[in-house]
Amino acid sequence: MKILVVGGGGREHTIVWKLAQSPRKPQLFCAPGNAGIAALATCVPITADDIAGLKAFVVQEGIDLTVVGPEAPLALGIADEFRKAKLKIFGPTKNAARLEASKIFSKAVMAQAKIRTARAQSFEKAAEALAYVERHELPVVIKADGLAQGKGVIIATTRDAARQAIVDAMEKAVFGQAGKQVLIEEFLDGEELTIMAFTDGRTVVPMLPAQDHKRVGDGDTGLNTGGMGAYCPAPLGTPALREQVTRDVLQPIVDTMVRLGSPFQGVLYAGLMVVKGLPYVLEFNARLGDPETQVVLPLLKTDLLDVLEAVVEHRLDQLSVAWHADTAVCVVMTSGGYPGAYAQGLPIHGLPSAGSASTMVFHAGTARTGQEIVTAGGRVLGVLGRGATLADARREAYRVVQSISFAGGHYRTDIGARALGSAR
Ligand code: ATP
Repeated sequence: MKILVVGGGGREHTIVWKLAQSPRKPQLFCAPGNAGIAALATCVPITADDIAGLKAFVVQEGIDLTVVGPEAPLALGIADEFRKAKLKIFGPTKNAARLEASKIFSKAVMAQAKIRTARAQSFEKAAEALAYVERHELPVVIKADGLAQGKGVIIATTRDAARQAIVDAMEKAVFGQAGKQVLIEEFLDGEELTIMAFTDGRTVVPMLPAQDHKRVGDGDTGLNTGGMGAYCPAPLGTPALREQVTRDVLQPIVDTMVRLGSPFQGVLYAGLMVVKGLPYVLEFNARLGDPETQVVLPLLKTDLLDVLEAVVEHRLDQLSVAWHADTAVCVVMTSGGYPGAYAQGLPIHGLPSAGSASTMVFHAGTARTGQEIVTAGGRVLGVLGRGATLADARREAYRVVQSISFAGGHYRTDIGARALGSAR
């Protein structure tokens, strides 16, 4: 069986690594992949948003199943194109992926499905948005409607900052088309939690809860990033909360998408804010999270290939999905300067040649030049540690992190630290 994974970050390395462990021994391809993925799959130089190029490759190579990692190709309609051509693909259609690609659409679906979320109002005209924030309590959250690579959310603590965020998005178009419309939302004060689920459009199978760390610096300081690390299971996501989120959030969204004529198939990601024990939805994503995938998928006991096939063939109700009982921590190593400007092409020293039972280094922004592996992006590596407890998993991850170096490299030293008190 031949499988193509679309993307080239740490999330895709994790998917490929997991598929490589399948007893069914699939032949793996990845487009475009990275230096780490190349050890497990044939990397093909097609970018993730080149849908025509990917489709031509799949037909020519006789790929049996395509698995989409990032959001951009989903928002461009890769799943629609592939299904039209009767090619099997794991991921939602363009319409279903609007749950992520349009925050205004997502809010409308949440309203229909009666899901608990921050109160919000959408605006097409800057003047009206500006008038509205004058009356809104602070802090206030301004969100660009469309995809803005995680940068489209501004939490304004002053009236001036709120006005500036609206002007930047709607008049200066700093997020391009994505900011033409904005949502103005009440600020929720709580703790964040991610619960992702596999769904075939009908059945919902929740994954273990994870928490990521978005700020660049220790103690949640500094700028927002794509994610500096994550751990799983997050103690905040108790079995009761996970059940509640499945029953009151994930299943109603999946059912509502069917009623809207756009069934959602793939991974539905719920970004939650838990306020006084109650889960509020901050956002939905239409795919696996990065770096949450690096801690959630390693704990999946069932063969990932079986799960992906059950989703694509709409028979998830017939599969029992099991999880390992240990804990996973992933520490992301970034280029110096990230999320701002950073150098690339710097040699990475001390990379272990292979993973172990309790550790694995997932590549994100890496490339090979001759015999050397060099940096090639902001987030460079994701180092996974596993252990019976969160403390054990952290120790394993940081032991490997400390053995790897590249000029200017940065990582947070407190991934999972706050949860230590309540962890298993
Ligand atoms: P990403 O794709 O990087 O997760 P995004 O740009 O799609 O982010 P959101 O997840 O909606 O946007 O928001 C980004 C972050 O902003 C959240 O993880 C959360 O920390 C914060 N945030 C968003 N909405 C609220 C809110 N209503 N109250 C408090 N914080 C919020």
